[in-house]
Amino acid sequence: MISQIKKNRIDLFSLKTEKEMKYVEKKFEIFLNRKIFKNRKSKKKYLYQIKSCVCGNKLGHKFSSFFLKPFLYRKCKFCGTISINPMLNNEGLKLIYSDRGIYNIYRKNFFEKKNKKTLRSKTINKRKIDQVVSLFKKKKFSLLDFGCGDGNFLFNLKDRGISDLVGVDSKYDNLEKINNIYFYNNLENVKKKFDCITLWGVLEHLNDPNNLIDKIKLFLKKGGYLVMEFPSADSLLMNYIKTNNFNALRFIEKGRHLFFFSKRFIEIFCKKKKFKISYLETNGLDLQTILGSKDKSQIKNILDIQEILDSNMMSDHFRVFLKKIN
Ligand SMILES: [Zn+2]
Repeated sequence: MISQIKKNRIDLFSLKTEKEMKYVEKKFEIFLNRKIFKNRKSKKKYLYQIKSCVCGNKLGHKFSSFFLKPFLYRKCKFCGTISINPMLNNEGLKLIYSDRGIYNIYRKNFFEKKNKKTLRSKTINKRKIDQVVSLFKKKKFSLLDFGCGDGNFLFNLKDRGISDLVGVDSKYDNLEKINNIYFYNNLENVKKKFDCITLWGVLEHLNDPNNLIDKIKLFLKKGGYLVMEFPSADSLLMNYIKTNNFNALRFIEKGRHLFFFSKRFIEIFCKKKKFKISYLETNGLDLQTILGSKDKSQIKNILDIQEILDSNMMSDHFRVFLKKIN
């Protein structure tokens, strides 16, 4: 049973230090100001004003907002989803994620080098895999991981005896076959349907999440599972950010996290796109993000309280398991 799989207790600050996060954030803010928010011309080239929420609600009518320079964060009063405004257009996203784009440079310098095949990816993947495997009666199912990056999740699945695996990520130039797993540059080159499609931390990086889901759905078998993880607008952390104008670096990721989704949105989404919620949970590092790393002796207490937040669906990331019904 998926609901009985135990959660990880992770000490966040042993993985990403505050110093590193602050360094990356500072460089990224300079990049945003110099390239995108520089003048009217550059703003026009890379940004646009969003008129409605991902749920379909016209934002002009009902929203509340808070400001973390240079973005306004607007919360839809109908579904509770928060989006940045102005929004980055496709040109803007291309600039950020291009090879020469600042995001890749820092990801390579810090996070990938440090985290590659380390405790972090292994511990996190283990639970993801336990959960995905529990959805199926046997280990014979096909899975596509969209936005798979280096493919660590797929390689770990392979080690667990799952063989029909495909990864899609724009980082691959052409089709690559590594360890019997196929990696594609984009969905258009994939020619089959899957029992399961995973999007780990993908949706919040896109300016049109509905568009991707509509495409993804075509590659999912009827009765198949769509598994996603994204930041939560309903979390304790988000409420703290709004109330205290606190820039929680690892959560807000200005210009990279474009959306923070709500439970209400997930329900609306399922109704519209013909999915059924199989299992929903939140996982988070709310308290450590708020309190910082100064007092190591409090870590056990912090993790204990975090477990209570998790069990009340108030942690900073949603993990959703949706079954395609049509
Ligand atoms: Zn909405």
